[in-house]
Amino acid sequence: MRLFFCPEQLAHRPAQFMIAGRLVPSLEAPERCERVVESLTRASYKVEQPRRDFPFELIEQVHSPGYLEFLRGGWERWSALKNPSPEIVPNVHPYRGSGDDFTPRKGPRAASPVAQAGYYLGDLACPVGEHTWRSAVAAAHTALAAAESVFAGEHAAYAVCRPPGHHAQADRAAGFCYLNNVAIAAEFMLPHFKRVAILDVDTHHGDGTQSIFYRRGEVQFVSIHVDPTNYYPFFSGYADEYGAGEGEGANLNIPLQPGSGDADFLDALDDALEAIRAHRSEALLVSVGFDAHERDPLSVLKITNDGYRRIGDAVAALKLPTVLVQEGGYNLDLLGANVVAFIGGFNLASRM
Ligand SMILES: [Zn+2]
Repeated sequence: MRLFFCPEQLAHRPAQFMIAGRLVPSLEAPERCERVVESLTRASYKVEQPRRDFPFELIEQVHSPGYLEFLRGGWERWSALKNPSPEIVPNVHPYRGSGDDFTPRKGPRAASPVAQAGYYLGDLACPVGEHTWRSAVAAAHTALAAAESVFAGEHAAYAVCRPPGHHAQADRAAGFCYLNNVAIAAEFMLPHFKRVAILDVDTHHGDGTQSIFYRRGEVQFVSIHVDPTNYYPFFSGYADEYGAGEGEGANLNIPLQPGSGDADFLDALDDALEAIRAHRSEALLVSVGFDAHERDPLSVLKITNDGYRRIGDAVAALKLPTVLVQEGGYNLDLLGANVVAFIGGFNLASRM
């Protein structure tokens, strides 16, 4: 398995996010990646830097031009406001949404950076700072490098990505996410494989990824996560979201009740893997989040370190070319060990 990490991902340093109405220091810190790379190196894995000359069109395949322009140039325009905060935080929101079928929005009429912040930033967990764009593009390139190595013949590759990506919609940042790394990697895989599946095992529903592929049949999306009735991202992730149009039947959500542990998660994973086999995908991408761990500050599940080893083991049993893209996981003391456990489980099962 090849592993990729780009140090430019460390430049983005969001100051705060809002949880239950309180602004608190952001949990999505650059140290997350530093700890993971340290743990991987200690476990004798070689971590490579991705190439940085991937065509920009690969990102444009997933995200709208107006949104990308906002992420790239918004901070400079925001900084020209009278007495602005050091990072873009929205204070207005439009009424218009994208509709139940997730058709893309047209873009805002207003040019003000305040209006654009409200339009393109979905919540208070995705402030845009001076270095956000640079790090988000570096994260996308890290996922692209992993995908490229897999369609060039590597059995599997792991992308140490941050900021994470699975809450990013085609035209909206949310939940610490700006560019949808796994979706960008999936588009890059498609010319090489007829059908691909994206499995999302982060504790939060991958609402951004779901919406990007909701009407597509060749990309199946399967997510195991906490029941969103009382948990972020609240507005999608329910079991009756099956996909639409050509994508009908290619979307599967498996919500878990708070308090669920390894056995419940692995049961749900059995169902997820059965659905992926039935879709006859030729390659797999996995949004790997570690925030379901019993001691993660955002977790209401009880997954253990050994649980992550068993999840890695079960995913490898699909025997598909596999791109592993890192998403959440916020306990700095345990994140690296959980990544190493997952990769260890995956590698051991791959050899059998
Ligand atoms: Zn998460």
